[in-house]
Amino acid sequence: MEFLNDRYLFPAPSTPGPGQKYGSPLYVYEGETIEQKYRRMVDAFSVPRLHIHYACKALTNISVLRFMHKLGAGLDAVSIQEVGLGLKAGLAPEDILYTPNCVGIEEIGEAVKLGVHINIDNLSILEQFGHLYPTVPVCLRINPHIMAGGHTKTSVGHIDSKFGISIHQLPHLLKIVEATGLEVEGLHMHTGSDILDADIFLYAADILFNTAMNFDNLRYIDFGSGFKVPYKEGGIATDIEDLGNLLSTRFNEFCREYGADLDLIFEPGKFLVSEAGHFLVKVNVIKTTPSTLFAGIDSGLNHLIRPMFYDAYHEIVNVSKPMGKPRIYTVVGYICETDTFGSNRKIAEIHEGDLLCLKNAGAYCFSMSSNYNSRYRPAEVFLYQGKDYLIRERETMEDLLRNQIDVSF
Ligand SMILES: *Cc1c(COP(=O)(O)O)cnc(C)c1O
Repeated sequence: MEFLNDRYLFPAPSTPGPGQKYGSPLYVYEGETIEQKYRRMVDAFSVPRLHIHYACKALTNISVLRFMHKLGAGLDAVSIQEVGLGLKAGLAPEDILYTPNCVGIEEIGEAVKLGVHINIDNLSILEQFGHLYPTVPVCLRINPHIMAGGHTKTSVGHIDSKFGISIHQLPHLLKIVEATGLEVEGLHMHTGSDILDADIFLYAADILFNTAMNFDNLRYIDFGSGFKVPYKEGGIATDIEDLGNLLSTRFNEFCREYGADLDLIFEPGKFLVSEAGHFLVKVNVIKTTPSTLFAGIDSGLNHLIRPMFYDAYHEIVNVSKPMGKPRIYTVVGYICETDTFGSNRKIAEIHEGDLLCLKNAGAYCFSMSSNYNSRYRPAEVFLYQGKDYLIRERETMEDLLRNQIDVSF
């Protein structure tokens, strides 16, 4: 597994790594890893026009958006605020697809004004949209109803899911499109995080290709994301080259049947940034109970909630003393609620003051952080071509008080 450059994590005593330089807790992202993942994705597909739209909810720091833009990526935005961040990062409106869920028509109207592509995921809004903006082309989010995904909270394509327009509603959908005269420019699906199998993708792809035959003026097909990344050493991952091969062949066949070369779009979030991220934390306390050896760190579920929210696994290593003899630790946070980052993990012997690194901390880690327990959110640092860039300052008391109104009664 890729790991942070030695010079940053195991610095010579005279050259502090980011953990020492910027303090802890600290999120560190490696630009080269993101670049590598982006190229791998681009190289995996052989179709006339491929667009990678970075699903920015995974990690929304504006410098990361700028970096993605520089690589050539477009943007998948799930809120009008993410659209705003994307525009601020220099993306053109036509390179942004706005895919909200359960937002009102007013917010969609704002997106129309900003000129971004709009993805609609229910018939009620589609009907309203058709009456208000009959000349604005839309993309339709289709729910193909396949069960996929690593966790019930991240599986979004199944029959009970709130996402997308059910494939079984196609007759109704077509009536609305015809009655309003809407131009459908794209079809989209996103069946959930953590899809392992190329077969599942192909199965869902066929559903979308068949649906596409009902629309004459499509310009793109967007297959969303759900690419699995390894969280454990040797862990399973989507075989992107295999998927690229199979899907490209199928897509090119489809384009011939359809009679036009459409754009193929993917929206990876986790695949691009998960492994690039490292969360550095300091051990405050070593505590022994009759059954457990705890390492208590200067962070908690307020900074990285995935283990508690999704039972996610993040590998934990002692970067201060990586060569120590391994012992069995349960690594816990400082929040007044159980926040266990890892139970019974083999980690090189930890001393109070050591820095630990939680790996795979690029996706859905900082972006899901909060100020719970009135703790400051961490700083973020971006490493690229041997330089380290502070891309978010650690918060201060001022940030906690911002927008609060101090009323004396
Ligand atoms: C979250 C999301 C993605 C990205 O999913 P990953 O599993 O992080 O790759 C892509 N498209 C849409 C519409 C999403 O909501």
